[in-house]
Amino acid sequence: MIAIYPGSFDPITLGHLDIIQRGSRLFEQVIVAVSRNLQKEPLFSVEQRIRQIQTCTKHLANVKVDTFDCLTVTYAQDHQAQVLLRGLRVLSDFEYELQMAHTNKSLWPDVETVFLTTSNEYSFLSSSLVKEIARFGGSVTHLVPPNVVQDLGRCFNPPPPTSPPTPLERP
Ligand code: ADP
Repeated sequence: MIAIYPGSFDPITLGHLDIIQRGSRLFEQVIVAVSRNLQKEPLFSVEQRIRQIQTCTKHLANVKVDTFDCLTVTYAQDHQAQVLLRGLRVLSDFEYELQMAHTNKSLWPDVETVFLTTSNEYSFLSSSLVKEIARFGGSVTHLVPPNVVQDLGRCFNPPPPTSPPTPLERP
C-alpha cells in the first residue's frame, strides 16, 4: 500500500522525519508531497524543501519526495495511493485534521487518512517555531536535521559580503 504524506515542510523538522520513518515501516512506499500552497509565504522554495527532505531521508529506500499543486486526493489517485499519512501533535491539531480527513473522504470515499501520534519529544515542534528561533539566533540543532540547520544559518546569518578589492595604488 502506498501512502502520501502531504504538507508544507517549510522546513522539514525532526517531528516530520519521525512520522516519515515510522510511516516507511508501515507502508510499501511513502511519498512525501510538498504542497505549492499559495496562501502561505514560504521561507524556502519548493525546490529547496524537496532537496532538504531528500537529503535527510536518503537512508529510507521506500521514501520518495515530490511536489503537487492540486487537490491532495487527486494527487493520491494519480499515484495509486489510498492512504494519506498525517501527524497528530496536540489536541489543537485534531479539529483541523479531522475536518481535512472528512473533506478528503467526501471527495474520494476510498481514501483513508492514517494518523500517527507524534513522539513525545516532538509534540511541541512546528516549522514556524523553528523559523522563529533561527531568526533570533537560537540553536535549532535538536529540532531539525543537520542539513536544515545549515540552510537556516545561511538564511538568517549570511556570510558578510567580501569587500571589493582595493584599487592598486599608483606610484
Ligand atoms: P500543513 O501545512 O499541511 O499543516 P505541515 O508541514 O505543517 O503542513 O505539517 C504536515 C503534517 O505533519 C501535518 O499532519 C502535521 O500535523 C504533521 N506535523 C507537523 N509537525 C509535526 C511534529 N512535530 N510531529 C509530528 N507531526 C507533525
